[in-house]
Amino acid sequence: MTLRSRLLLAQAPLVLALLLLGTLAVVTLARVGRSGQQVLEDNYRSVLATQRITEHLERMDSAALFIVAGERERGAAQQAVQRPKLESELATQQGNITEPGEAEATQRLRAAWKRYQSAFDAFLQERDPEASRARYFESLSPAFQEAKASASAILALNQDAMVRKSDRLRQQSGQVNTLMVLAVAAALGFGLLFTTSLVQRALRPVSVLSQAVRRLGQGDVEARAVVEGRDEIAQLARDFNTMAERLGQYRRSSLGELLQAQAVSQAAIDSLPDPVLVLGADGGLLNVNAAAEAVLRLKLEEGGDALGRVEPEVRAVLERVRAHVVGGRGAYQPRGYEEAVRVESSPEGGRWLLPRGSPVHGETGEVVGATLILQDVTRLRRFDELKNDLVATVAHEFRTPLTSLRMAIHLVAEGVVGPVTEKQADLLFAAREDCERLQGIVDDLLDLSRIQSGQLQLDLREVRTEDLLEHALDAQRTVAEDRGVRLSHSLSPDVETVHVDPDRLQLVLGNLVGNGVKHTPRDGEVAVRVLRDGALVRFEVRDTGEGIPVQEQARIFEKFYRAPGAPAGGAGLGLSIARDIVQAHGGELGVVSAPGQGSTFWFTLPRPDAD
Ligand code: ADP
Repeated sequence: MTLRSRLLLAQAPLVLALLLLGTLAVVTLARVGRSGQQVLEDNYRSVLATQRITEHLERMDSAALFIVAGERERGAAQQAVQRPKLESELATQQGNITEPGEAEATQRLRAAWKRYQSAFDAFLQERDPEASRARYFESLSPAFQEAKASASAILALNQDAMVRKSDRLRQQSGQVNTLMVLAVAAALGFGLLFTTSLVQRALRPVSVLSQAVRRLGQGDVEARAVVEGRDEIAQLARDFNTMAERLGQYRRSSLGELLQAQAVSQAAIDSLPDPVLVLGADGGLLNVNAAAEAVLRLKLEEGGDALGRVEPEVRAVLERVRAHVVGGRGAYQPRGYEEAVRVESSPEGGRWLLPRGSPVHGETGEVVGATLILQDVTRLRRFDELKNDLVATVAHEFRTPLTSLRMAIHLVAEGVVGPVTEKQADLLFAAREDCERLQGIVDDLLDLSRIQSGQLQLDLREVRTEDLLEHALDAQRTVAEDRGVRLSHSLSPDVETVHVDPDRLQLVLGNLVGNGVKHTPRDGEVAVRVLRDGALVRFEVRDTGEGIPVQEQARIFEKFYRAPGAPAGGAGLGLSIARDIVQAHGGELGVVSAPGQGSTFWFTLPRPDAD
């Protein structure tokens, strides 16, 4: 049976009860109506008839009184009219005998009427007024009183009956009322009881289904709805069970896949030879690979405190990289091997580890942690040290012979040791230029090795910015003029002095201006500007040269890096040294450039009078 038919069936008891009640009400009302009508038929007609009979009797009496009063004609006519009327009313009464004793009373009335008529006839025969009057009082009036009394008896009989019947009717209608109230209450009670139980039975499967849905919603994929039958709810329950079954299968398969994927990725990071750590945004340890456990002696189970066992220096580096990444500044790339940190506790002895970091993103793209890789650069660092040692040694060894070579060439070229031909002089000048360039490279190398070996001791002094600029530009002026490049400088009045190591800063400025001149075509310009930038002093060296592609801009600060196609003569060290010197002063160095639009190299220094 369908749910619709069941619900319709559930209304049946109520409808049945209403039907029964309706029929009962109609029958009872009809009965009451009939009883009322009966009263009318039975008694009211007799009441009317006897009243009229009394009326006719009185008219006849007044006709007799007319005759007594001498109005014989009028009295005779009036009594003649009344007689048949009374006769007819009497006939009506005789045909409407309904009460016990009414037939005898009517007989008595008829007899009295008969006697009154004979008395009247005899009265009419009397012609003498005196005799008529005497007959009236002797026989006619008593006969009239008797007939009237008989009519009144019938009237009283019927009136009593009416009162009795009306009492009975009132009693009956009171009973009907009580019966109806009881019937309504019973019909409503039974109807509601049956309807509720039928509706409940029809809807029980809905609650079974809803319980199953709730359990599934709470994550219980084993929840099923057991509903028998073929109706819509049973069909819905079967569909629900199929859905729950599929959901269960899906969950089992996706959980398995998830575990497998986790095992695969753990195996992948464990296979990396370098330590890998995943830190949460709050610094808690989320994951580590086998190398990290071995080298840093970390244990994931130790949770948030795990980093507490790491050597303080390593921990500081890890914290710094994490803060960089979690702070939203993107991936962290080290600038060179000098950032490597030494770990002594490693099972293979001291190791140099170079930190890198990349962000871990949450579902909505926000940074929720950082993956830190500590690249083992022990061997590379060793090579770097060897290379630096070699470079320093070679540069040092080159310095003295180069100076004497330059001196010798200078003396010969100037003709101090004898005359030289023009051709010889040209060759000697070219050799002297090459010597000077070589000397520049050797100086750069020596600076670099000093900086790298931590020997960069700054001799900080208060210097006039104007003097600093003049010196730096003067050193480049001859070359700039030779190349047809204009040199200019401007200085904002609020940066009169700077607190720097003048020789070192001269080197930085000389380097940047020299690069600008080198990379600017004839008729171009190199402009130096010094201005205040909040709590900093900002130096800018702007040229109108070829500019630097974006992909080159980060690399030009690396040691020994020279852009492809760069003019010969440099060793790719100038910018690296300049940056080291600026950083040693507590500043930053960078570049803004685009191909074809020149370059602006800038660096900042803390202001001497800044708080
Ligand atoms: P080098 O002494 O070889 O010039 P630097 O470290 O001073 O080395 O510069 C590195 C590279 O940066 C150079 O090879 C050059 O290609 C590029 N570069 C530096 N300054 C400029 C500039 N003003 N305009 C264009 N390229 C420049």
